[in-house]
Amino acid sequence: MSVLTRNEAQTRAQLLDVHRYTVDLDLTTGEATFDSTTAIRFTARTAGDTFVEIKPETLRSLSLDGQPLDPERLDGNRYPLDSLTAGPHELTVAATMRYSRTGEGMHRFTDPADGETYVYTQLFMEDVQRVFAAFDQPDLKSVFDLTVTTPTGWTVLGNGVSTQAADGRWHIAPTPPISTYLVAVAAGPWHSVTTQHAGLPFGIHCRRSLAPHLDADADEILDITRACYDRYHEKFDEPYPFDSYDQAFVPEFNAGAMENPGLVTFRDEFVYRSAVTDTERQTRAMVVAHEMAHMWFGDLVTLTWWDDIWLNESFAEYMGYQTLTEATRFTDTWTDFGVARKGWGYDADQRPSTHPVAPDPDAVPDTASALLNFDGISYAKGASALRQLVAWLGEKDFLAGINTHFSRHKFANATLADFIDNLATATDRDVHTWADAWLRTTGVDTLTAHVETSGHSWNLTVDRAGDRPHRVTVGTYDHSLDTHTGTDQLTLRDRFDIDIPQDGTPVTQPGHRPDLVVLNDHDLTYAKIRLDPGSWDTALTHLSGIPDPLTRALVWNTARDMVRDGELHPTVHLTAARTHLPYETDLALVQGVLGFAATQIADRYLPPQDRPTALATLTSLCRDLLRRTEGLTAKDWEQAPGTTTPGSPDPGLRLIAVRHFIDAATQPDAIQDWLREGTVPGGPELDAELRWRIFTRLAVLGATDETAIAHELDKDPSATGQEGAARCRAALPTAEAKAAAWQAMFTDDTLSNYLFTATAQGFWQPGQSELLHPYVARYYPDAIALAARRGPAIAEAAGRHAFPAHAVDPDSIRLGEQALTDPALTPALRRKLTDQLDDLRRALAVRDAH
Ligand SMILES: [Zn+2]
Repeated sequence: MSVLTRNEAQTRAQLLDVHRYTVDLDLTTGEATFDSTTAIRFTARTAGDTFVEIKPETLRSLSLDGQPLDPERLDGNRYPLDSLTAGPHELTVAATMRYSRTGEGMHRFTDPADGETYVYTQLFMEDVQRVFAAFDQPDLKSVFDLTVTTPTGWTVLGNGVSTQAADGRWHIAPTPPISTYLVAVAAGPWHSVTTQHAGLPFGIHCRRSLAPHLDADADEILDITRACYDRYHEKFDEPYPFDSYDQAFVPEFNAGAMENPGLVTFRDEFVYRSAVTDTERQTRAMVVAHEMAHMWFGDLVTLTWWDDIWLNESFAEYMGYQTLTEATRFTDTWTDFGVARKGWGYDADQRPSTHPVAPDPDAVPDTASALLNFDGISYAKGASALRQLVAWLGEKDFLAGINTHFSRHKFANATLADFIDNLATATDRDVHTWADAWLRTTGVDTLTAHVETSGHSWNLTVDRAGDRPHRVTVGTYDHSLDTHTGTDQLTLRDRFDIDIPQDGTPVTQPGHRPDLVVLNDHDLTYAKIRLDPGSWDTALTHLSGIPDPLTRALVWNTARDMVRDGELHPTVHLTAARTHLPYETDLALVQGVLGFAATQIADRYLPPQDRPTALATLTSLCRDLLRRTEGLTAKDWEQAPGTTTPGSPDPGLRLIAVRHFIDAATQPDAIQDWLREGTVPGGPELDAELRWRIFTRLAVLGATDETAIAHELDKDPSATGQEGAARCRAALPTAEAKAAAWQAMFTDDTLSNYLFTATAQGFWQPGQSELLHPYVARYYPDAIALAARRGPAIAEAAGRHAFPAHAVDPDSIRLGEQALTDPALTPALRRKLTDQLDDLRRALAVRDAH
């Protein structure tokens, strides 16, 4: 198979003007394959040679302008169209196509809960070629007109409104001009909740076995959808460009969601079967807002080539968080962004694989290299850069520039240069220079505060390692005694903005020096922050007393990257977590800090002999959180989301504590008791998710067995149950269990993407290093062969979840470095291994630093 290069795309875009695809899909031809017939109407601007792409099981026939072509001439995924004459043409292609089990192309899934089958497409980047023939590049937009034949009882969803004709076939209303990667179809006996908003049909859909769970949250999901829709119409001049808005929650989806025009697809874990925290509901809402932003940015105006993927993602990420804050009950989204997303960007930006937010077009020569840029840089750093841009430009000018961009390029394509030019029309500021400094460079600046007293005032100087201009807020805080509780609090004294670099003179402020000076309060810029020593002492002792959660997030991020840089002993971070988290009220912060403490500090940064003590610290911290959330009634657990009474215990906080307690348990007794009783004392009652979580931990500890796992699977035979059982079986500490799991992951090419991931998640356990040692060396050749056989989605899962991430030792790193020289290594796996090995080296460096 050939990947498309940028040069080839440019040549083809000059030659062709594509008008209309008429696609006919027959989904009734069996479980392995479906039939696909495509007619493409296009014009060649001059005479010339080109090609059309398709990845068929069997290419049955082709014709050009009514003349048959020889199917045997298909070369990999390209069919040559030689000596095209100038003028209009019609190409027809009939083929048999294979369903996918990896979430790429036309994915087919049979629900173990009820035997019903569902299919849906994910055509991103170049997977349209797995479904129908196409001139597959983003800047050859066209009308798409689809007809789909299905088994009886199915519903077909598509980009446009779908209707069933008298012959039972489904016709989807033709689209306005869109890119090939944005076409979508989802078919099956969907459960649907539909409504109208702003004169358009809106719908949410999931498989039937999840119907009660979707129904329970339908109002919440649709309210957020309507609120975001209305808010975008206040921000954007262009109206929503498509004829309907469907959101389908689909099984075994690889990403969070995909922004197909008029038919957004989401992973169906977003239909919650078990109890979740309000932060998880906020994440779902953020994804709803993110995908809707793409309807304008990405779908209406589309990148010309994949080097600008960041423009799509950074914009949608920024808009998603910002719009949620403005339009819904989730008013504190930037704290979650600070905790859950920024670290992703900072980490990615300090690895050897980092790249500018806007890479040089030559650095993205083909689709395979473009796929690697779906990372913390394109999402988290890019969105942080846009947030800083809005702080620097003002929102009014930013939106004016965006609206110019939409009106100039609607239903067409645009580049970064177009975007910057359009922003420049709205402001006197030098956006081009800003873009060079922020978007064309790599790495994280470090801003270090120096504070000194001078007479009756104090001075602030900021050292900058790096070259970017920053506009930041400085927050100053003083101790005060809360007379009610007798506790020592921090109160905000003042906030002021400064530009960095400073012009050579320190900022002078009246009064004694504050007890705490926070650079980048409000978290509006993207940089590592180092507090002055006095402020750092205050922060460590008073972190939970800082009034604003966004400020606390900033300080926790400082602690996090000081640990990663070897400047703070991991146990000091753990002690701070032990001290402050029991008083933390922000769920995203509790979750983020506990997650880092468990998966990085306990599992990787501390040597194995210190891990039991670290886990004991985590379980005692969780017990504190459980004590703090005692007294919840059954009614509290059933209460509508987001309606917790202020001052009363938060069920979400208790749920986080329960989950982390289970994951960190070093003795089975307590969690076995919970399982026997069917509840945590004082709640919550164990639902399917918590039961599988306990079984996984018992499996790791060797305190359960195959009989018990099979019995649990009988109770929950759903798709999630199958994944839970696979995770448990792989986690059992026996040679037989590990051998069976390895065999399934690396030799069974029918294993679905989700079952692969669940097995991999169970397999590697930090406490099982002796048993797992032989697999460290086996991993590299087996993963390289697997990635070559099964493609990028499984390569990504193998690199992310099946990697021996706990083997923090020089031998393991050496094996990995050797593997990087293997010529059979695919780009997707190479990138994952490069990043994972860098994380191992960092973990080793953290251990060596202390
Ligand atoms: Zn996106």
